Amino acid sequence: MDVFDKSTGETWNHYPNGEPTGIIQLREDFTQQIIKCDLSATENIRVTAEGSSGARLIFEDLVCEEVPIGGNLEVRVSLREASLNIRIEKADLPSDYALEKIYYPYRSFYLEKDERGYITWPFGNGILIPTNINDLKDELCDLNLLSNPAVKKLTKTAFTTEIPMYYCGMFSMPWFGASKRRSAYIAIVDTPDDAGAYITVLDPRNKERLAISPVWEQSYGELRYPRSITYRFISDGDYVSMAKIFRKYAMERGFYKSLRDKIKDNPNAERIIGAPLIKFWIMDRYPWTGAASSVHGDRRIPLMEVKTSYRQVQDFIRDMHDNLGIDRAIILLAGWGPIGYDNVHPDIWPPGRWAGEFRDLRAARDLAERYGFLFGLHDNYQDIYFESPSIGVGESIVKSRVVRGIGHILVLGGVWEGGQAFIICSKCGLKYAQRNLPRIIEDLKPTCYFVDTTTAAGLYECYDADHPTTRSEDKEYKIKLLEYLNELGLITGSECGVYWAAKQLHYGEGIMNFNNLRFPGIAVPLFNLVYHDSIVAYWHQGWPLNKGPIKTKFLADLLYGNPTSWNFNSETYREFRDELKEIFKVASRLHREICFDEMVNHRFLTEDYLVQESEFSSGVKVIVNFGEKAYVSAEGRIEPMGYLIIKSREKNKT
Ligand SMILES: [Zn+2]
Repeated sequence: MDVFDKSTGETWNHYPNGEPTGIIQLREDFTQQIIKCDLSATENIRVTAEGSSGARLIFEDLVCEEVPIGGNLEVRVSLREASLNIRIEKADLPSDYALEKIYYPYRSFYLEKDERGYITWPFGNGILIPTNINDLKDELCDLNLLSNPAVKKLTKTAFTTEIPMYYCGMFSMPWFGASKRRSAYIAIVDTPDDAGAYITVLDPRNKERLAISPVWEQSYGELRYPRSITYRFISDGDYVSMAKIFRKYAMERGFYKSLRDKIKDNPNAERIIGAPLIKFWIMDRYPWTGAASSVHGDRRIPLMEVKTSYRQVQDFIRDMHDNLGIDRAIILLAGWGPIGYDNVHPDIWPPGRWAGEFRDLRAARDLAERYGFLFGLHDNYQDIYFESPSIGVGESIVKSRVVRGIGHILVLGGVWEGGQAFIICSKCGLKYAQRNLPRIIEDLKPTCYFVDTTTAAGLYECYDADHPTTRSEDKEYKIKLLEYLNELGLITGSECGVYWAAKQLHYGEGIMNFNNLRFPGIAVPLFNLVYHDSIVAYWHQGWPLNKGPIKTKFLADLLYGNPTSWNFNSETYREFRDELKEIFKVASRLHREICFDEMVNHRFLTEDYLVQESEFSSGVKVIVNFGEKAYVSAEGRIEPMGYLIIKSREKNKT
């Protein structure tokens, strides 16, 4: 499929050199072998016109390795003004085959390496991969704007990858786009719950092309429902116009609620304005020698370490308020569970006494409340461990589809501090939350809460006979979990952040990424361009400001309009309290001014991406300079690693 953009004269073509128009992957019932059918090789392709600008395509009698195997696929294409809608209407599978995936359209609308342009998608907050990424990557790496490990791993930055779109941490919103010269497109996936994206960056075969196209995954072995993607071609468009098109789409479809409205529903939400997220790490315990070294570092395991006592938490809250001038904060405790962090979920109440008596924990909460801070716990309703009493014989765990000769497999999570985790089906996770939370509220009276992984991990298909869920149903139960926390009056957050939870989430921990992207690309604030006035964006506990590079992350927070995030234990709190104080003064003040603002623009002021400017709806502009040379703007000079905050008329420079 090729598209000619009349308004700009650009053409967007299908990948050349005989690349198929689409591919269907099928799974043979008996052997479970996966076969591929090239749709261009189909015996009979019937095209009938529908209306003045639409067509129905039927691929009849699929072909695998030159042998017709039967079955057909029906696709509808329709063009309305600058919008191209493609619907995978129906898949009649050949007998003895289940559906695995459909790639359609496959590698359409590509970019050549020497065309000026980029592909982009909301990986975390957002990633932009320019066609000339290879020329830029070394300098950007040195200046902490590009992920060093990603560049090292992906030799010469040429790769093809497939990412599930229902994996929230990798696709915070269901769209992708590309831009070249004056033309751009955004592709919104209308049915994203069983979809993915197939991404080619400088095609490893010839190092020439970039493309991004949709993948339609099976649901219970079938297409089950029509799948839809809508491309919209934008003249003189860029990633900002793409984000703005999605913002409107999200508002129309109920994937948006303003922070103002969230405060109307729960006045405590007002306390998030200007509030840095401060996580205190209470206790680690690795009982298992098999724990991944990436998690435990070089420490000898098994180990048990109290990192911060409940009384120290009280001291630090008091110090923040009395000595550092901090009047707003989200205080989250992690590792307070019966045996420390990431152990025995969801059987976590009453909390551990290794870091102090319960009354000390409660006193920390009361102190935070007296100062107007939000106070809550880092909890988890998706992981369960062998040591968790609730594990039984695995009744609540997600079951995979039947694997030949084995049956259903219990779906594994990661290997964390508590050892091998399994994934709790979200239907059961909600019940565990409803069992735990009333007791936690009664005993501790938290004002906010954090549920780990809910909006970071993927959606799961569950085949357990007692609690079957499609990925869409899994999403609905996750929304119910967050809604439940809302109903309890808790300011609600989860890991990363995702469009489908925009009504329930007050904040997302891990929406921010910069030099920690898994692919070599430049961070762009796609999520903040859509949700700045809805969900407060924080860094992940694994890469907060104090884990460095602190100055880069501070500047990124100013640019994106966020109140900053920290992850402390008793040692690191003392180490970083001076920086916390100084950064709080600037970032918290800015967030108070613009927290209800839409982020209306973001742009790169220099070709090397090092000087960036954001603009908010009240007229506030922020310019930051990540480079090593001073930058002179119309509003003033910005030193290397400096910033400029410009209010409508007055200037405020540091
Ligand atoms: Zn289930």
